Amino acid sequence: PKHSSVALIVGVTGIIGNSLAEILPLADTPGGPWKVYGVARRTRPAWHEDNPINYVQCDISDPDDSQAKLSPLTDVTHVFYVTWANRSTEQENCEANSKMFRNVLDAVIPNCPNLKHISLQTGRKHYMGPFESYGKIESHDPPYTEDLPRLKYMNFYYDLEDIMLEEVEKKEGLTWSVHRPGNIFGFSPYSMMNLVGTLCVYAAICKHEGKVLRFTGCKAAWDGYSDCSDADLIAEHHIWAAVDPYAKNEAFNVSNGDVFKWKHFWKVLAEQFGVECGEYEEGVDLKLQDLMKGKEPVWEEIVRENGLTPTKLKDVGIWWFGDVILGNECFLDSMNKSKEHGFLGFRNSKNAFISWIDKAKAYKIVP
Ligand code: NAD
Repeated sequence: PKHSSVALIVGVTGIIGNSLAEILPLADTPGGPWKVYGVARRTRPAWHEDNPINYVQCDISDPDDSQAKLSPLTDVTHVFYVTWANRSTEQENCEANSKMFRNVLDAVIPNCPNLKHISLQTGRKHYMGPFESYGKIESHDPPYTEDLPRLKYMNFYYDLEDIMLEEVEKKEGLTWSVHRPGNIFGFSPYSMMNLVGTLCVYAAICKHEGKVLRFTGCKAAWDGYSDCSDADLIAEHHIWAAVDPYAKNEAFNVSNGDVFKWKHFWKVLAEQFGVECGEYEEGVDLKLQDLMKGKEPVWEEIVRENGLTPTKLKDVGIWWFGDVILGNECFLDSMNKSKEHGFLGFRNSKNAFISWIDKAKAYKIVP
């Protein structure tokens, strides 16, 4: 066969799906040459069209649609599961996400005789608990290592892991891996949690209105150490686990391997958009959700005046997520296990921050 491996990226327009869709088809990608299918719910957006993949529009929350669109893809060898459903409670998250994952596996496992590996992405909330549990339960003491026991609070990540472990049993030799990033720096106007994109939109609005780029976060985020997980690095981590025997049947953290402070990155953001840089403001509880309330017409004007790709403010300015990240201390993880198993990849987070801002500009999401 022309291809040694055939990928099914579930969530191909998301923040990691987009990186996987760019990297997998490259000539020098490990395990290649790869043929790539990419699944997402909506029609293919213009900013995604450059990637040489087979786009499959499918709603994986619908079992019939999943069977209809996915069971014919019988040559799939590797599944990259990089999607999720964001519901209002963790109970609902558990139900919705379990259903989606099962729909995909039910369509793929019985129909793909050459299926070898399932790569599941979860995240650092594995150790911290879901957002709704913050302050209610005692979470683990960072830096987080993969061997820590599960928290005593429901978590859709635990359910997905359990489903995967149960499903791989159904096929001899089928392997798995779990990838747990922290805050992701990447590109996707369709992501449900895109921090860099959100900050770019905030900075563009400040610039347009001639306002200072006020820091909307807590002292611990301003002054303390934070880290992030570069989307291309996470894609490389998924691909490593898909092809390297030492990475099979394990869960791994994935982060850049350095730390930064928002007080330094805030300057970078301000410079990139030509706005006056704000500072941490003592005693004011600033929230993006409050500052950016009702800015839809301003955003429309910015998009029109600068000839940007049409977007809705609610899709590209995810204020609640920016408030969660900047409003809390960042808890760090350890990359030792990945390194010990042979993954030595890393990113310089400042360079990564600038490159993802550049990409948002290059694709005309922000001016
Ligand atoms: P995302 O929100 O960026 O992208 C989701 C993708 O899935 C999109 O392509 C979307 O079209 C697709 N999708 C959503 N619902 C679908 C459906 N019903 N049918 C078909 N496609 C559907 O995703 P992400 O942020 O990469 O999230 C993957 C995992 O990573 C989640 O468990 C998330 O919690 C975790 N995570 C994300 C971040 C982050 O900063 N974004 C950080 C740590 C962990």
